[in-house]
Amino acid sequence: MKKSKNILNMRNVSRFVLFLAIVLVIIAGVVLLRGNNDGTETVDEHKSVVTVASGDTLSSLLLNQGFTNADVLKIAGVLKSDADITSLRADNDKIEFVRPDSDSPVSKIVIIPSPWRRIELTCGDSGQWNCENIEIERDTRAVYRTGEILDGDSFYLAGSRAGIPDGILAEVYDLLAFEMDFERDVRAGQHFSVLYEENFSNGKKVDNGRVLAVQFAALRGNVQMYRFRKSDGKTGYYDENGNGAIKSLKRTPINNAKITSSFSRSRKHPVLGYTRAHKGVDFRASTGTPIPAAGAGRVVARGYNSGHGNYVKIRHNSSFETLYAHMSRFAKGVVVGTNVKQGQTIGYVGSTGLSTGPHLHYEIIKDGKHVNPMTVKLPAISNLGRADKEKFLEYKRVLDAGIEQLAKHPDWFIQM
Ligand SMILES: [Zn+2]
Repeated sequence: MKKSKNILNMRNVSRFVLFLAIVLVIIAGVVLLRGNNDGTETVDEHKSVVTVASGDTLSSLLLNQGFTNADVLKIAGVLKSDADITSLRADNDKIEFVRPDSDSPVSKIVIIPSPWRRIELTCGDSGQWNCENIEIERDTRAVYRTGEILDGDSFYLAGSRAGIPDGILAEVYDLLAFEMDFERDVRAGQHFSVLYEENFSNGKKVDNGRVLAVQFAALRGNVQMYRFRKSDGKTGYYDENGNGAIKSLKRTPINNAKITSSFSRSRKHPVLGYTRAHKGVDFRASTGTPIPAAGAGRVVARGYNSGHGNYVKIRHNSSFETLYAHMSRFAKGVVVGTNVKQGQTIGYVGSTGLSTGPHLHYEIIKDGKHVNPMTVKLPAISNLGRADKEKFLEYKRVLDAGIEQLAKHPDWFIQM
């Protein structure tokens, strides 16, 4: 009891203690209620719900409901100024029209542009339309999934088998790619786990939220990452010791691309035939695959030479540069001097220059020297200050205890 009292003094952690208490009592039994709103349906005699279909416009839908062109302009104006809505998305948005009685004009319009937002337009006595933006409360639950790499598996296959949704897997891959070389660190028999959020509305799962924790028992060691909010409100991912897990550069810019040639001081060149250093890493990818910048920086070169073909070079800070070669084409707007974000597409895979087939040749240059992208020590983007680090370690301790429970009871969840 004494221990949990201490924990409750910590702001971030106290919530988790509560979640844990709930976890220990609740076994999730989710009843999925399925709605079926296709086209127009009459919910009761005064309310009809229209699901936006492709080709529908706000004006066509309003005119169908008996509005005049003048009304349509008025309503569109209010939607734009008060709700920042200028168009409807087919198959996603729903509109409700409410009448005081069945043969009166519409007095209230409800637009649902996302599962988490509801816009209510009500007609006032003098014919003006008032707009109210309502945020729909979401019920967020953290769920835990574990998987194992089997013979001949990719991380994606194993993750899908573990029931981890594609979008979450892609995020996990992005995170792990800072620490792991999927080519060399992944073997059959390895275990991994992911704690992530699922968002519910009225007991029905709507979408997935954020990745909260990742663990992968890789060949070079156990990789652990936790999402944590610092006292300045910014969130990031940190390893088990509280060191920043997001590095300034990615070892593998293209997700899930197979390494076809490693960094080496001497290799037989596939085109030239003689032995020379391979100053980068080759990733197999088909022509046209977008090439993301490995880190934020400024484009310092964009051009063509006989060896690299079309290439881009980015300077990230005073010591690191990266180079991307054999591109089929450059991304629009990426020229010398352009500032790029980490993950921003700078060009597309190709086979220009000295190349035997479509691939990305990727180099990391540190203080003017080529280094092995797979092993070079990369600086973290953000590390925790002393106070935040203490909070993090406390948070992690409680989260780990929660994860331990979830590992024993895969159908439980943590109420966020
Ligand atoms: Zn190469």
